[in-house]
Amino acid sequence: MSVNLQTPIDYLKGVGPNRADLLRKELGVHTYQDLINLFPNRYIDRTQYYKISGLQRNNADVQVIGKITGFKEVAQKRGKRLVATFVDETGAMELVWFRGQKWIRENLKLNKPYVAFGKTNWFSGKFSMAHPELELQEEHEKNLRSAMQPVYPSTEKLSNKGISNRVISKIMQQLFTETNGKFVETLPDNLRSELKLINKQSALFNVHFPKSQELLSRAQFRLKFEELFYIQLQLIIKNLIHKSKIKGVSFETVGNYFNSFFKDHLPFELTHAQKRVLKEIRADLGSNAQMNRLLQGDVGSGKTIVAFMSILIALDNGFQACLMAPTEILSVQHYYGLQELCNKLNISISILTGSTKTSKRREIHESLENGELQVLIGTHALLEDKVKFKNLGLAIIDEQHRFGVAQRSKLWRKGPTQSSQREEARETSSSIPPHILVMTATPIPRTLAMSVYGDLDISVIDELPPGRKSIKTVHRYDKNRLNVFRFIRDEIDKGRQVYIVYPLIQENEKMDYKDLMDGYESISRDFPMPDYQISIVHGKMKPADKEFEMQRFIKGETQIMVATTVIEVGVNVPNASVMIIESAERFGLSQLHQLRGRVGRGAEQSYCILMTSHKLSANSKTRLETMVRTNDGFEIAEVDLRLRGPGDIMGTQQSGVLNLKIADIIKDSDILQLARHHAKNILKIDSTLSLPENKVILHTYKQLGKYKNIWNYIS
Ligand code: ADP
Ligand code: MG
Repeated sequence: MSVNLQTPIDYLKGVGPNRADLLRKELGVHTYQDLINLFPNRYIDRTQYYKISGLQRNNADVQVIGKITGFKEVAQKRGKRLVATFVDETGAMELVWFRGQKWIRENLKLNKPYVAFGKTNWFSGKFSMAHPELELQEEHEKNLRSAMQPVYPSTEKLSNKGISNRVISKIMQQLFTETNGKFVETLPDNLRSELKLINKQSALFNVHFPKSQELLSRAQFRLKFEELFYIQLQLIIKNLIHKSKIKGVSFETVGNYFNSFFKDHLPFELTHAQKRVLKEIRADLGSNAQMNRLLQGDVGSGKTIVAFMSILIALDNGFQACLMAPTEILSVQHYYGLQELCNKLNISISILTGSTKTSKRREIHESLENGELQVLIGTHALLEDKVKFKNLGLAIIDEQHRFGVAQRSKLWRKGPTQSSQREEARETSSSIPPHILVMTATPIPRTLAMSVYGDLDISVIDELPPGRKSIKTVHRYDKNRLNVFRFIRDEIDKGRQVYIVYPLIQENEKMDYKDLMDGYESISRDFPMPDYQISIVHGKMKPADKEFEMQRFIKGETQIMVATTVIEVGVNVPNASVMIIESAERFGLSQLHQLRGRVGRGAEQSYCILMTSHKLSANSKTRLETMVRTNDGFEIAEVDLRLRGPGDIMGTQQSGVLNLKIADIIKDSDILQLARHHAKNILKIDSTLSLPENKVILHTYKQLGKYKNIWNYIS
């Protein structure tokens, strides 16, 4: 019969229904195509042989040439094991079988040179190899097609049912025989010659049967590029469609508010990065498409002022704006900061949170609907249905990693409508979504952001305001506490303020509160009143009490702030220069980095002290070492990603970056950049992929969509 790449795997010679079933269930291989795309995890160098005297304990993938000199059966708890003595000129070792002993005894020949391949164990003074792959040396030399032997993904079930690596290699070989010449090229010639990419046929062949290391590398490069290229193409096309379909309100002018603020009230000169990002935002707001932009900037990089100036552009065009933050404390802080600026410009601003009184709430609802209120700051409370804007033009979400996608889309629906029957209008296209700016200080490595947030445009503030000294970070053990307290005392004498933060993890809440309170007591003893004043803030307090304590610290009335992670995001007290993090090993990297970002906001040298017990896991050690080594949020994010894997990073779970067949989102970030660059360029010139040279791309793109092959994950 004639086969094509969509032919079910059952039809492949040597597979049959049982194996086909296993391949489907264990490896997700349904078709010929799927099998070709089952790429090796790694390769073993089969040109290297070991002597028995040179073996090491727990060597994996070892190849030894020797002869079987005899068999013996050894009784054990259940049944028996078969042991063969295997010798070369340097010594002897054992080959061991727990199953299939009859076949072994009948088929293996004594005193003939064999190549044994497997993992060595060290057992009661001898090396042994359990269930080795064995091949007569003669045949081994005949069969050796390539120095690099691929190792395919496997499962316990597969190896138990005899689908070994060698079996997969064999059916792969069969597949190449049956489909020879059927691999159509999927990248256009001009792109291939520009990037010196080998053709599809040769790439696939060499990734499964590498002729040389060089050809293997080129094959892998070509296939990784292709995989990433088509994903990027898909994301960029999605983004283009979004831009052409989703109309936005066009903010045509930059008017009085913006200009007068820029001329007369700007509290400092903007950094180059802030200016660049503002330009990017202005360009979005002035186009007819809805802005959907992610602003990434390390803690303290100055995102707030950029947000505020974007708000001014909305107001200049007669629209309202809102800013949503994840916590009450952060909302209040934004409110105070922005209120000061708004007052200078005669802008009406208000705050809405869970603890806003009913009467005040009513007032806000009313003034929002009649348009008197221009700017609203708040928490999730902004999302309530009762909160209706007259004409919301811009919605900003701060620290977006604390919110879900659902919340982002809820804001969408608060845009201006043309009809008075709002409920109905919401369902129709006459509702125009507001521009959306989401801000985060938890940087997602750029490469990952590119693949995950394809629907968002990304701006990065990659520069801190001038004069910031980098924060000195050290790791100290609990037994050094006295020294740490002495250091705190010295800093307070110099007029500085200190944060001491305790972990609060939900599962452990009771214990954590106890730790917090014990800590607070001991600190109160070491730093007694009236010389020292201490604030305490934690999640169980009433918002008003929290606010009171925060204010005491902000005003400098207290020198020490003892807190749980409620202060994690966004709090700004420039005079605070020391951050002590208790039980630092219990925090994640991005949380540690966020916490550290609370200091280093003023002109003084700041410090972060990570306190831990002596017992640390390897993972904790890496986290602490990373914190001590660098202040760079992006570098920290990369380490975090490596430690936790992309699946854990907010919002990436469903996105499919995990489903890559051959490329690795972290290790292949250079190829990703390259692929994105070319995908972008091609679409810039030919957004519908209708030029003759892009025919191949269009065809492949459609095929991929049809068979949901490499990207069935992109919705
Ligand atoms: P984040 O990006 O973490 O939200 P903020 O917007 O809170 O940072 O800014 C941190 C601090 O830096 C604030 O005190 C802010 O006033 C100050 N700041 C922001 N931009 C500049 C700048 N260009 N020059 C000097 N200080 C700045
Ligand atoms: Mg902030």
